[in-house]
Amino acid sequence: MERGDLADQLFENYGGYRENLIKASLIHHDDIKNILSDLGKSALFKVEEIGRSVEGREIFSITFGTGKTDILAWSQMHGDEPTATAALFDLLKFFSACDSFDPLRKELLSKLKFHFIPMLNPDGARLFQRENAFNIDINRDALRLESNESKLLWNYAEKADPEFCFNLHDQNSYYTSGRSGKHSTISLLAPPSDHLKSINYAREKSMQVILKIEEALKKFIPGGIARYSDDHEPRSFGDNFIKNGRSSILIESGYFKSDPDKEFVRKLNFISLITAFVSIAGRDFEKINYTEYFNIPENQEMLFDLLLRNLILKMNGSEFKIDIGINRKKKYDPATKKFFYSSTIQEVGDLSFHSGIEEYNFENHIIISSGKIAADEPADLVLTGREKVVIKNGFIIKD
Ligand SMILES: [Zn+2]
Repeated sequence: MERGDLADQLFENYGGYRENLIKASLIHHDDIKNILSDLGKSALFKVEEIGRSVEGREIFSITFGTGKTDILAWSQMHGDEPTATAALFDLLKFFSACDSFDPLRKELLSKLKFHFIPMLNPDGARLFQRENAFNIDINRDALRLESNESKLLWNYAEKADPEFCFNLHDQNSYYTSGRSGKHSTISLLAPPSDHLKSINYAREKSMQVILKIEEALKKFIPGGIARYSDDHEPRSFGDNFIKNGRSSILIESGYFKSDPDKEFVRKLNFISLITAFVSIAGRDFEKINYTEYFNIPENQEMLFDLLLRNLILKMNGSEFKIDIGINRKKKYDPATKKFFYSSTIQEVGDLSFHSGIEEYNFENHIIISSGKIAADEPADLVLTGREKVVIKNGFIIKD
């Protein structure tokens, strides 16, 4: 198989490796437990319970491969970010298969040893919330190691001693790649180990592997790859792993048009990770000039779910022209097991440099009633112009 075509071939053949028992939009602990109990019977994988969450749910590792280079990948440390959990299960299915990719599998399994920890935060996953059971962000607990989940990840890395770590997340839909107005569908970060954003050898290697991922993905999402903000976060895992000499790569699954359930972005995760593994196994990332990393456009928060332009606000006998940016937050109700949306007016004023995933020019429309314009308040608006327009929960309902 020609290596140059690898990303294309993975793209074309992905359907055969998709783990059809889970969806990228919502994954619960029971979903992965059922798959893992089957997977544990395979001679290839060692499935182990490595600890329990605060509420007592099992957290698992899956190890496979016999190589000297250890690779650690974990997902869903934020409970409401399940896309990469699905991709990790796709990878397990890929490694279980026998087909024309066999020479590649054999090479990866002989040079690398994989450690996957899918769903590090099962308590958060149950509620579809970022934080763990006592509402702390696990990715701000890498120093204090107060929660079970953080302790477990840190101790696991100490024991496995990975050269590369993959920290897998979802980001919201409001990021663009630079100021292009294009969605940032995948954003990548080689985290810094200090506020000076120093580049040690571990970070340099992360940047090189990121450039390999970017090269593989750009044909599928031209202009849709961004570099996540490299402000140092002293409490996060990636920054601390890099500090301790472990190369770390953050992959954020973002928004892609016509992909509300993130199945396409899941597939991009699958391609990203195999690309990275191949590059690490063959050490070909070492030939890359790491400074090119800074040419990847930075993630910018320039989008709203709904952008209403050129509205007229009447107040105290005067008229003001304003744009309104509204965001919809996807929320999950564990009781009904259904998603719903609640909206906020995120910003009001001159939004001519921003874009909307949905945009409307409401020139000559007057705001006749509105909810409070504050971050936490519902964004309900009624406009009048050629027609009456009602906006509820971030969606336009025309009267
Ligand atoms: Zn996250």
